Amino acid sequence: MDYPQWIWHNGQVKPWAEATTHVMSHALHYGSSVFEGVRCYDTPHGPAIFRLEDHTKRLFASARIHEIEIPYTPEQISEAHREIVRRNGFREAYLRPIAFRGLGGFGLSADTPVDVSVATWKMGAYLGEGVLEQGIDACVSSWQRFAPNTIPAGAKAGGNYLSGQLVAREARRLGFGEGIALASTGLLSEGAGENLFLVIDGALHTTPISAALLNGITRNTLMTLAREMGIDIVERDIPREYLYLCDELFMCGTAAEVTPIRSVDGRTIGAGKAGPVTLKLQKAYFDLVHGASADTRGWLDFI
Ligand code: PMP
Repeated sequence: MDYPQWIWHNGQVKPWAEATTHVMSHALHYGSSVFEGVRCYDTPHGPAIFRLEDHTKRLFASARIHEIEIPYTPEQISEAHREIVRRNGFREAYLRPIAFRGLGGFGLSADTPVDVSVATWKMGAYLGEGVLEQGIDACVSSWQRFAPNTIPAGAKAGGNYLSGQLVAREARRLGFGEGIALASTGLLSEGAGENLFLVIDGALHTTPISAALLNGITRNTLMTLAREMGIDIVERDIPREYLYLCDELFMCGTAAEVTPIRSVDGRTIGAGKAGPVTLKLQKAYFDLVHGASADTRGWLDFI
């Protein structure tokens, strides 16, 4: 992997290789980190970070849930994003802010110093080359998401991603593009690192945040765009079999963007390719992030 030149680390821009931490850092042992995945897109008016303020807000919300005191203001963290994209000379990039309990205690409840970093690197389509056009074959994972009041799904915390890794690795091992997890209720939850949408009779169905999923910013963006297009949105508990019955299916996330799903568990969805509603929303999403449509909500944060 080619690493970028600069990284923001504890308040300073440093060479990538110098942003190191001790092996006895709390987060490495116990998953005590909170992070975000953010994208910067090139637009006709210059590079813009999409919904930066909302990502920073969610980072602080995750930190609040886990009592991780971030020693910077949200404004400082947002500015670190802009600065690190500028310093690396990127026009399009993925960004990864992370705040974690560092070195300073080994007990579970230790109040260690909190380290903060904002990295950025070049990233294409998360689920692979060509998937945004062709779609992926997905499977329902044998691993369920965590039950309510166990590990909070509403926080984007490092430890949560042991679940995501089990789901994603099992799917890849079995030859699928991505895994879909059920909640502890047995009803649909979300993908390993993506929210899920089904299209049924022209309406957009998605699982509720009570189904142990991350309240995705892309999910919210697509629901906003769909509403404006006059597409009905139904947020409800969805049994697994509706995956096999729906007309169209797609996953979404900052990394995965809008990825069509052409089959689940070997059953072809619709025509086995991206359907019309998926394509319409995918286009609206890319037009928005690339500044090809009007940014009426101030979601483009120019660097
Ligand atoms: N669910 C999980 C588990 C995720 O990791 C992500 C990616 N952050 C998402 C959903 C999608 O969230 P967003 O659209 O905010 O990137």
